Amino acid sequence: NESLHDLDPEIAAAVDAELRRQQSTLEMIASENFAPVAVMEAQGSVLTNKYAEGYPGKRYYGGCEHVDVVEQLAIDRIKALFGAEAANVQPHSGAQANAAAMFALIQPGDTILGLNLAHGGHLTHGMKINFSGKLYNVVAYHVDEQTGLVDMEEVERLAKENQPKLIVAGWSAYPRQLDFAEFRRIADEVGAYLMVDMAHFAGLVAAGLHPSPVPYADVVTTTTHKTLGGPRGGVILSKAELAKKINSAVFPGQQGGPLEHVIAAKAVAFKVAASEDFKERQARTLEGAKILAARLLQDDAKAAGVSVLSGGTDVHLVLVDLRNSELNGQDAEDRLHEVGITVNRNAVPNDPRPPMVTSGLRIGTPALATRGFRAEDFTEVADVIAEALLPGFDEAKKTALAARVTALAEKYPLYPGL
Ligand code: PLP
Repeated sequence: NESLHDLDPEIAAAVDAELRRQQSTLEMIASENFAPVAVMEAQGSVLTNKYAEGYPGKRYYGGCEHVDVVEQLAIDRIKALFGAEAANVQPHSGAQANAAAMFALIQPGDTILGLNLAHGGHLTHGMKINFSGKLYNVVAYHVDEQTGLVDMEEVERLAKENQPKLIVAGWSAYPRQLDFAEFRRIADEVGAYLMVDMAHFAGLVAAGLHPSPVPYADVVTTTTHKTLGGPRGGVILSKAELAKKINSAVFPGQQGGPLEHVIAAKAVAFKVAASEDFKERQARTLEGAKILAARLLQDDAKAAGVSVLSGGTDVHLVLVDLRNSELNGQDAEDRLHEVGITVNRNAVPNDPRPPMVTSGLRIGTPALATRGFRAEDFTEVADVIAEALLPGFDEAKKTALAARVTALAEKYPLYPGL
């Protein structure tokens, strides 16, 4: 029963250092969040010891009476949260959820239609060397060059030309809402399944601040650790008639024993996501993203060639467009890192710079909203970001901006008891 510090000081030191990094910097990676202590407690529990292949009430192992309670609660809570007919809470990650959903719905060699990776799609939506690109015949749709919005006319045209078995709607880097009803109409027109991957915006949907894909899609997948604010993991929601296929695609199709400790943590997160506090936090997340977009559209940014894709945001992230700036995505990411703000560089559609450099940044507000940031704080951090991206970034400016970041971090202590 030795503690981590006693048993493995090297790992303990790295964990402690990571905690200090999270506490002292501003986390603005759009796919990240801070899980509540109760979620981490569930995830760090004795449930990690338990094998439970199968599903609640139908296990291949003895001693599952307590993990059955846990998994059933997770299922019931997420069904209620999203008004879904069926839920599988076992996928180990978002990628696993997408793989299982595809295994359940279509056959290798079938055609899928998904958003191009460089236009905001995810690897699992058909990237060449991902399982999705290797197993399926992938046709990709894009965003319109002028508007930055998904080109629904192209989606319809490609669907008619290629007769996909599955249309995937969803994104990793897109600042607007998708038209799920239109995707449904197109899917019906060509007899395709519609799968919506709401990994990024699930928290906004749960809070009622983003349209829900659940009434429109045959299958909805999500991660549980982004806007939803839970442990790392995946979930598949579906219509009741697909539940059996989905369940057998997850286990035994794709996975062995479920991670019941993670499922317990998911259940806790779903309870949190049904609360008024969660709604209020998601509203601040959206407000923060709008404040950031507005700051990066001001004249000083424009003069420096800095802009915002699609001219704003309806979600929890802003895509900064640096195609006309001397600063590339890599240098911009590094500058923000130097002042204590963590973001990731991101290719913009038709990016003239190489993929490791890019001409964009993806900046998200969920983690800071979880930390407690309000409009005035987002206004301050937006100004720090804009200042860092403008010309004249020297040592003095860096020091001044880093001090403003530290002041914000200290205003909202993270995990104070840890
Ligand atoms: N789907 C979307 C839209 C994502 O953005 C991501 C993660 O970035 C995933 C799926 C995959 O999730 P995971 O990293 O848990 O496999």
